[in-house]
Amino acid sequence: MKNIGFIGLGNMGLPMSKNLVLSNFTVYGTDLNKKAEMSFHQAGGIIGVSIQKMVELCDVILTSLPSSNAVEEVFLGEKGLINLAKSGIVLIDTSTVAPELNFQIEAAARKKGIEFLAAPVSGGVIGAINRTLTFMVGGSKSTFDKVLPVLSTMGGNIFHVNERVDSGTNTKLINNLLIGFYTAGVSEALHLAKNSNLDLDKLFEMLNVSYGQSRIYERNYKSFIADENYEPGFSLKLLRKDLGFALDLAEKNNVELPMSKILFNLYVEADESGLGEKDMAVLYKKISEQKST
Ligand code: NAD
Repeated sequence: MKNIGFIGLGNMGLPMSKNLVLSNFTVYGTDLNKKAEMSFHQAGGIIGVSIQKMVELCDVILTSLPSSNAVEEVFLGEKGLINLAKSGIVLIDTSTVAPELNFQIEAAARKKGIEFLAAPVSGGVIGAINRTLTFMVGGSKSTFDKVLPVLSTMGGNIFHVNERVDSGTNTKLINNLLIGFYTAGVSEALHLAKNSNLDLDKLFEMLNVSYGQSRIYERNYKSFIADENYEPGFSLKLLRKDLGFALDLAEKNNVELPMSKILFNLYVEADESGLGEKDMAVLYKKISEQKST
């Protein structure tokens, strides 16, 4: 496995693909955004290759795309991967999408003898840069074993969840449901602290060694809230997307999640107030600007 394709060179895809280049794979990348392609090219990646050509050249193609629609188009569209690829290639989607889409792609791939894994990731941009991402992979174990050296180049914790193709996605949605709660909890707690004459740096120092500590508190406070800089990161609108998928999963499985519904509405409101492109930590700003009634 030497030649790798990478589609979607955004906040996650760019550092992930750069790490493949650094590990001496030959990497062909593409993105709708030409600036992203240039950054990839400057890091030693090859650009200007059509999907048609990419499927001929590559043993494995990875995707990191922002929505189910984008993933559907790239995999199942007329000029998409499944239509153009031949048997023998392995396709891996690292995006977080609706679990049903994992099944649709797997079924289409199987008809053509193409192997497909749904492998969402956690760990954020920092994890992508530092190769410490967690991969939660659903699909064939033998395909997983085959591509493990490729995934290990980008992640520190690579899990095969089970043979069901949606198992990694379901794991990831539960992870992101927790992220949604932690982010909202940190936002409300810091809003209260600020209005209770507490210094937020000192508070962090104390709670970081107490049970109020969490990785999301550290991430959101240290990297975003403390400097009031909310450039993503992980955009609020992507978290809203994942919370929507988690609620759909709950409905499909007849599970009632009353708190999660309230949580989802909080993110919908923040997204619709124009904060969607900012990092999810911006929820603190939204909450701290709310007037009490
Ligand atoms: P992003 O918006 O920064 O990047 C997505 C890239 O895909 C963009 O550069 C966009 O131009 C490109 N793109 C869109 N449609 C395309 C198409 N048809 N063909 C080629 N390129 C196309 O998003 P991101 O933050 O990198 O997230 C990517 C995926 O990873 C999402 O599914 C997200 O939920 C997931 N994820 C993100 C993070 C994070 O911290 N940002 C963490 C874990 C998982």
